[in-house]
Amino acid sequence: MQFQWYPGHMTKTKREMQEDIKLIDLVIEVTDARIPMSSRNPDIDDLAKNKYRLILLNKADLADPKKTAAWSEYYKEKGFYVAELDARVNKGMKSIQDIILSACSEKIERDRKRGIKNRPIRAMVVGIPNVGKSTFINSFSGKASAKTGNKPGVTKGKQWIRMNKQVELLDTPGILWPKFEDQLVGLRLASVGSMNDEILNRDELAIEILKFLVKEYPGKVNARYGVEESDDIPELLMDIAKIRNCISKGGEIDYSKAAGLVIDEFRSGKICRFTMEIPED
Ligand code: GDP
Repeated sequence: MQFQWYPGHMTKTKREMQEDIKLIDLVIEVTDARIPMSSRNPDIDDLAKNKYRLILLNKADLADPKKTAAWSEYYKEKGFYVAELDARVNKGMKSIQDIILSACSEKIERDRKRGIKNRPIRAMVVGIPNVGKSTFINSFSGKASAKTGNKPGVTKGKQWIRMNKQVELLDTPGILWPKFEDQLVGLRLASVGSMNDEILNRDELAIEILKFLVKEYPGKVNARYGVEESDDIPELLMDIAKIRNCISKGGEIDYSKAAGLVIDEFRSGKICRFTMEIPED
């Protein structure tokens, strides 16, 4: 499968992020818990050098809970603060606030010793497109949408949202680009719907998704569609087309319609909760 992606403004975005990062204490990196590797860009490790770090395993409601726990451990061992999250739900936000304070406790303590009181932690959200950055900012800031007004230094058009006395958040997330030149990363991003569909062969994508499901989550395709699972994946898709009445106007079986159905139901979690990557080393 060939992927092509030509993100515009990449250099400008990166330059802006470099400027904004200078002003902050903590980088909150949002990832997609279904693909915790492929939804990151390792460049952030360099960009966020010397900053406190929090990784959010977002969309955890759609991911495989056991694997999310394994990823959580993995990133903790690497020295990150980590939280599993469904960014659409406001409920989890208090614990995020607590984690932010733990992550920055060293700085808070240092300020306290120097007699500096109530200097807020400044945080910024970063991540590749579609991982839930805006959703998180909205949920997290909730009613605290009172902006603090433009301050020198922050790149044009951005503002601090004052969460409370302790935390200020930059209102605009920093956008990172995935490692889209890597075919496997591209496939995984496409599978969860984080890549432009128009540049993909959807029939092939559906085949890859079914292949993954039959191997990693046996029984789930059968449970959803009532088809018998086998290694003959194109046949499996054909069976799904038949059972779901995917018929074209000419009365023929509409393979592509079935492909679209499988892709949509996979992404929205209707087939099963899944995680496509497990931690290495
Ligand atoms: P951004 O491009 O990183 O800012 O991503 P958005 O905040 O626009 O979110 C992309 C899509 O993912 C939207 O349709 C959100 O509703 C959805 N979304 C965000 N967070 C979650 C989550 O934790 N769980 C689920 N199921 N969907 C989410």
